[in-house]
Amino acid sequence: MQRFQHYIDGTFEFGLDSFESIDPASGKPWALMPRAQAEDVDRAVLAAGMALSSGPWPDMTATGRGKLLYRLADLVAQNAQRLAELETRDTGKIIRETSAQIAYVADYYRYYAGLADKIEGAHLPIDKPDMDVWLRREPIGVVAAVVPWNSQLFLSAVKIGPALAAGCTLVVKASEDGPAPMLELARLIHEAGFPAGVVNILTGFGDECGAHLTSHRGISHIAFTGGPQTARQIIRNSAENLASTSLELGGKSPFIVFDDADLESAANAQIAGIFAATGQSCVAGSRLLVQASVKERFLTILKNKAEDIIIGLPQDNATEMGPLCTKRQQQVIDTHVRQSIMDGADPVFGGTVPDRAGYFYPPTLLDCDHVEASAWENELFGPVLCARSFSSEDEALAMANDTPYGLAAGIFTNNLTRAHRLVRRINAGVVWINTYRAVSPIAPFGGSGLSGQGREGGLQAALDYTKIKTVWLRTSDEPIPDPFVMR
Ligand code: NAD
Repeated sequence: MQRFQHYIDGTFEFGLDSFESIDPASGKPWALMPRAQAEDVDRAVLAAGMALSSGPWPDMTATGRGKLLYRLADLVAQNAQRLAELETRDTGKIIRETSAQIAYVADYYRYYAGLADKIEGAHLPIDKPDMDVWLRREPIGVVAAVVPWNSQLFLSAVKIGPALAAGCTLVVKASEDGPAPMLELARLIHEAGFPAGVVNILTGFGDECGAHLTSHRGISHIAFTGGPQTARQIIRNSAENLASTSLELGGKSPFIVFDDADLESAANAQIAGIFAATGQSCVAGSRLLVQASVKERFLTILKNKAEDIIIGLPQDNATEMGPLCTKRQQQVIDTHVRQSIMDGADPVFGGTVPDRAGYFYPPTLLDCDHVEASAWENELFGPVLCARSFSSEDEALAMANDTPYGLAAGIFTNNLTRAHRLVRRINAGVVWINTYRAVSPIAPFGGSGLSGQGREGGLQAALDYTKIKTVWLRTSDEPIPDPFVMR
């Protein structure tokens, strides 16, 4: 079995303990990962704290930090294929998607490299003639970045990139499921020349490594991506260190199709929105709301397209849907789908665990019209689409907003005024009109409600890794007047 090392204070280590990583395509262990313990976390946080306050990092200019980030971006781009192969092996995500996504991850690092020396302070037109007052933007401190298994390189880039641009240091906790590519990223960070301790990457379990990290007194900010249940735990953990938090959580995103839409194009977007990445995507468009007059036609187009999806080994370039990442995930999805069918949902296609090795699950469509189904209510994080029909715009909107989540929404219509009306009223942090599942380093991303708080991507994300220091300078040579009056 291949053995991986985690990265603490510029050194690669096997760690005090280890765990097996499972290949989701075969269900068999293939690698040994370090299982970080409290002592490992303590050392990593200490190293990040030291790197923040002493040594070359705090003295480096913002332009210098940007240059290191550019170097990292180039290394990610040069090693994209190797990183993609590792992610595919360890998470089951298809090679077609991992290679394209990781090549694009390099652009996220480039974006934040360019931003490093554009994070500016300000000079205030203060209302006192003998004072000069300015604001310095300083790094917020040591950041704990905690990511889930899907798209770890991407989800960590939107944390590591802006945090380093702002001058922070980090302890990154990879997911216990599929962490291999994150440990390879650590090698590239090392090769790029970041000083020891600036970025530390640990692998371990949530309840030991993750909990200890996020409650650690040395942490100033927690950047978390994962499920709402864990987010609640993280907020409780942060009561220990009073760290600020940004939370990118799940979704149950509506995908609304009106009868004037280009149905062929909408169907392609819907297939991408729910079956790409085998549905393991926070923005999965898992609730289809389709106008009643085109419902049957649209479901038939989806069925035909779903039948053509090539399911297979994630390493095969022809594969369009690979396995789920974990057996646990396969079981959760199966339970919800079975229960929903028992409750009256009509399986248009899919809905049964295939009889083969690995954690596969087929593309599934449940017609949930007039049915209370758990698959409609809950984020399954799998390739399960639930459909309901509507007859008016108001009804579509009411159904779309009838969820505690608020991450993403898709609207398919050729009626421009209707699209604008819906954008204003829909509860989602990202709205795609006549497209779906598009992202960019330039565009902020995030949600509200059970989907979390804060935004990743874009300029503001880098500012979120800074804190403001207000500096007052008295410019008068006269003695300070009445000391008993606040100035
Ligand atoms: P999860 O919440 O179980 O785990 C996420 C990370 O948190 C893992 O690294 C885990 O080890 C860690 N963790 C678990 N318990 C912890 C604790 N007590 N303290 C600190 N850390 C802890 O999520 P998951 O099941 O791995 O991932 C799926 C979830 O992630 C879904 O809900 C999905 O929607 C969400 N997600 C959101 C986005 C987004 O950007 N909004 C992107 C991808 C995934």
